[in-house]
Amino acid sequence: MQTDVIVKTHELALKGRNRPWFMRHLVDNLRQATRGTGVTKVWQGQLLVGLTLADESDWPLVSERVRDCFGVAKFFKAYKLPQDLDKVKEVLPSLLADRSFESFRITAHRADKRFPTTSEEINRDLGRFVEELTGSRVDLTHPDLTIYLDVLPRDILVYFQEVKGHGGLPVGVSGLVTTMLSGGIDSPVAAWQMMKRGCNAHFVHFHSYPLVDMSSIEKAGELVQHLTRHQFRSTLSLVPLGEIQKQIIVATPPSYRVILYRRFMMRITESLARLSGSKAIITGESCGQVASQTLENIAVIDHVAGMPVLRPLVAFNKEEIVNVARSIGTFPISIQPDQDCCTLFVPKHPETHADLATVEKLEGLLPVDDLVQQALQGTQVKKFTSPETAGQPA
Ligand code: ATP
Ligand code: MG
Repeated sequence: MQTDVIVKTHELALKGRNRPWFMRHLVDNLRQATRGTGVTKVWQGQLLVGLTLADESDWPLVSERVRDCFGVAKFFKAYKLPQDLDKVKEVLPSLLADRSFESFRITAHRADKRFPTTSEEINRDLGRFVEELTGSRVDLTHPDLTIYLDVLPRDILVYFQEVKGHGGLPVGVSGLVTTMLSGGIDSPVAAWQMMKRGCNAHFVHFHSYPLVDMSSIEKAGELVQHLTRHQFRSTLSLVPLGEIQKQIIVATPPSYRVILYRRFMMRITESLARLSGSKAIITGESCGQVASQTLENIAVIDHVAGMPVLRPLVAFNKEEIVNVARSIGTFPISIQPDQDCCTLFVPKHPETHADLATVEKLEGLLPVDDLVQQALQGTQVKKFTSPETAGQPA
């Protein structure tokens, strides 16, 4: 019997002229996500995408991959039968053979209104059939088993369990963004939120190697690899910040170091973002979380950014961010100890209300453009693919 994974999207997102665009990305993404699994065909129906399985045993792996695709509201493993209720009755005994249930309900949905039997009639007819077949009773409110039946223009889908997806928009529909990725908890969550809104994310990580060890670089790589499951290919730019930090330390007062580091990071990120064609920069900052994240400091940092800087976590508190980090699987990577560049040579009490004129005066003591160019020249790029074993290198 043909087994398909059926993917449904949020109908609201499918309104109007965006629909073909949205569906094309979703189909492409599902195709990429299921490379190397037993999917033999990806097909598009009305408001749904189907993935035909070579064998039912492919379901666990395919289901894991489909769950990672943004834009998927829900999905299920379905048996595809001809549009004929007698055929359904023929195969139901084998489909139900391994299931034990005392109560059940039939939930029929007639997407093809030309089909002569109404959903209500299907529910009653098949309900009686299953009652006689199994001796179980109908329970419409708390059934042990729900038997779903979707009548499509050419086929009938029978399935038993729906799996919830992340929802959101397929990666790619909203364009490219560049994410400033530390090894911490927040920035991977920020990247994930933007990917869920249909953005493809590039990643930039600043490090102070060899002034510190490679741990933050390794963590950033692990985080990018983890997040790549949602977009299949990623690029991570590893930018050396050590030289800039040394010059800042020699020339400026300690309380301004964090703000100066951040303005340099922003300038460099903007250059890399432009090179990649990104439309915005993403950070994991949230208002008031640490000294550098006051509204005044954010304003002084953004002053050097020539493109929108989006902070999807701006109104989240730490507990909320940690909850998301746990649910998306980045938390265990983020909490591994590392030597982060931003903790290097910073005072206990950094400036919380930086003043733009003072910051600009301090930067006047530094060869800003040369330092930015030097850091860009020292930048190394790493590429990631997911699934790791299948497909071409990025
Ligand atoms: P995170 O958990 O992402 O480290 P945080 O709460 O520790 O965030 P900060 O260390 O102040 O906050 O960093 C704020 C934001 O600045 C980060 O979310 C990230 O977007 C960016 N950032 C900080 N350090 C780096 C870095 N080494 N490389 C790239 N971006 C960074
Ligand atoms: Mg941090």
